[in-house]
Amino acid sequence: MKYIQPFILLPMFEVSDNQHIYKMENFQETDQKFQYFNRPKQELKVIDEILGEAKLANAFTHWTYAATGKRFMITDVQGWQIELGHFNLTGPIVFSPVPDQLGYVDWGLDGMESWMKKHICNDICNDLPMIEDQNLIYQCMNYMEQFQNNSFQEQINVILGSHN
Ligand SMILES: [Zn+2]
Repeated sequence: MKYIQPFILLPMFEVSDNQHIYKMENFQETDQKFQYFNRPKQELKVIDEILGEAKLANAFTHWTYAATGKRFMITDVQGWQIELGHFNLTGPIVFSPVPDQLGYVDWGLDGMESWMKKHICNDICNDLPMIEDQNLIYQCMNYMEQFQNNSFQEQINVILGSHN
């Protein structure tokens, strides 16, 4: 599963009250169908006549929740399937320990638990190690800490720095 690398755009003019940033991605061209594999509220059952049921996306969302020890969850998995088990994805929604901190649809632990209640584990879930990954948790929490305690400009540096 591969997310398309976004770019951050900063307007070069002064904005008095609110500072805005924009996220952009390169135009993607494919003859595959763009699909939502799950949404922030629940998983979706996507069945392709050739590739079968797309189970990986929902297992992935479950895994993000398990591996981060219920601290984060990536939902709204959307994009297109290239071949069996290979997806190009865009526009994730992330639930974090502090609701709203990662956007308007960051529903925090409530969002994660609500998603999990409606999720039915598939065979990929059963094959994945659904256990906490301490290194991943450390990286995520460290990133959030840098992000939270900083000014707007420093937050931008944190975002940009993560790709260097
Ligand atoms: Zn599952």
